[in-house]
Amino acid sequence: MKDRVIVLGSVNTDLVVKVRRLPRPGETVIGGTFYQNQGGKGANQAVAAARSGEKPVTLIAAVGNDVFGRESLAALQRDRIDLTHVKVKHSISSGVALIMVDEGGENAIAVASGANTALSPADVNEVPDSVFESAAVLLACFEIPVETVRAGMRRARQFGVTTILNPAPVPEELPADLFSDVDIMTPNEHEIARLLHLPQIEDEAGVRDAATRLLDRGVRNVVLTLGARGCFFAGAEGTGFLPAFPVKAVDTTGAGDAFNGALAAALSEGRAWGDSLRWASAAAAISVTRAGAQPSMPFRREIEDFLKIHG
Ligand code: ATP
Repeated sequence: MKDRVIVLGSVNTDLVVKVRRLPRPGETVIGGTFYQNQGGKGANQAVAAARSGEKPVTLIAAVGNDVFGRESLAALQRDRIDLTHVKVKHSISSGVALIMVDEGGENAIAVASGANTALSPADVNEVPDSVFESAAVLLACFEIPVETVRAGMRRARQFGVTTILNPAPVPEELPADLFSDVDIMTPNEHEIARLLHLPQIEDEAGVRDAATRLLDRGVRNVVLTLGARGCFFAGAEGTGFLPAFPVKAVDTTGAGDAFNGALAAALSEGRAWGDSLRWASAAAAISVTRAGAQPSMPFRREIEDFLKIHG
């Protein structure tokens, strides 16, 4: 049965302190409140795929041999994600983001990518053939080395697995031959502008032009996510706009991860292109009505109920 989703990406822990105001260099600001969130784009997308889908989800990632890594894996296990191919790197910490947020919502973030940077092409190539043979879709994002993503895409292609690349965050350099290994690329507006070295996209003509340029590089389909405006898709599966579902947004963090994970899950179940985009769009719409990234990823039943109401 070829129905597995493989997610290749990062695992992080977000350590967040809410403060009255952000400290200046050298200053200490006392009186904040602390909370800890599971994060990393790879982990978020794996959770989105596992909750929204009914097929197995395998995560290829790396954590350190520390409490953050263990807690991240425990959380992913609760979502029934197959962690057999998550590497535990012994001489490096797990990925950690230190986040300070002030009363106005302004933030300052420092990321120690840790084990994510040590996930190597060799780690991907060690994953047994049987995993790729049983996979329908591979979903990859950055926050891990570009070469590792390339190894994953290439291996997936060899086994006839549909490849989705969420190019976030956009690396400094992308090898030109990576594009032709991508069945579906899912940038947001900032990412596509950075990828193509374009100024910010202003209007519908800019959206169409940017998508066409990406297709010209060898990508088979582009799904350009446009926040509350929905998404624009172009390529072998067709071209058009899909408006977002009208919801009251509370926190849009992780909308892109919800969209990508749910798209991968829908395609792995053999849903048609239009249905898969609607499914992804519904999952993302639900996620923005809730706080946080990983905790906001909706379950399958919630997406089904949402689509019954929203038609
Ligand atoms: P993030 O980086 O915050 O995870 P992103 O920038 O990668 O998100 P967006 O383009 O903001 O991704 O959003 C992805 C999808 O989520 C959109 O295409 C849309 O379907 C849905 N979405 C985002 N914001 C809203 C909103 N306010 N209301 C409804 N749907 C939304």
